[in-house]
Amino acid sequence: MTIELLPRFQAVGSDLYSRGMVSVHGGNLSVRQGEKVIITRSGSKLGYLTDTDLIETGVSQDDDNTRLASSELAVHRAIYKQALFQAIVHCHPVHAVALSFLRRIIHPEDEAGKIFIPEVPVIGFGKEPAPGGFADEIADALKTHAVVIVHRHGSFARGMTLEEAYVITELLEISSRVLCVVKNLKTGAI
Ligand SMILES: [Zn+2]
Repeated sequence: MTIELLPRFQAVGSDLYSRGMVSVHGGNLSVRQGEKVIITRSGSKLGYLTDTDLIETGVSQDDDNTRLASSELAVHRAIYKQALFQAIVHCHPVHAVALSFLRRIIHPEDEAGKIFIPEVPVIGFGKEPAPGGFADEIADALKTHAVVIVHRHGSFARGMTLEEAYVITELLEISSRVLCVVKNLKTGAI
């Protein structure tokens, strides 16, 4: 089952890494299949995933594989328990993370961002981020927003497919870059 998913995990992971949205061991991806979640292994390299990097465990139940899963498993599980989404992408897009230092909500101003992700909540603003932290807050916000960003940490995007969650993540980073560039232009920094 997981082997059929491998090319899709590899394509998204490779794109995230090559575009600088994760460091070599950063980020995690998952897909839900009924009561099972297939999630990247703790410490796996998203840019170079192999079949042993996909860990299948329960959405609600622990099993022998649970300890191998990404340290963000608790967040992925909380999201799947609250809604019928089928895929999650978590990564560390630089410009979006930078904006999360300063803003409680990111409002994209470019056309695509305004249409598809008009409001991106910053979760845990002013608090210390930790792996698996803010799981319920993230899951709650993702019921009504396609993507959120954890303060000083990274984004969580959900979708019905891995590719959809990736596209939303990319939109967030492009919109965030535009916001940063426009702000610099206004202040004369460039
Ligand atoms: Zn992270």
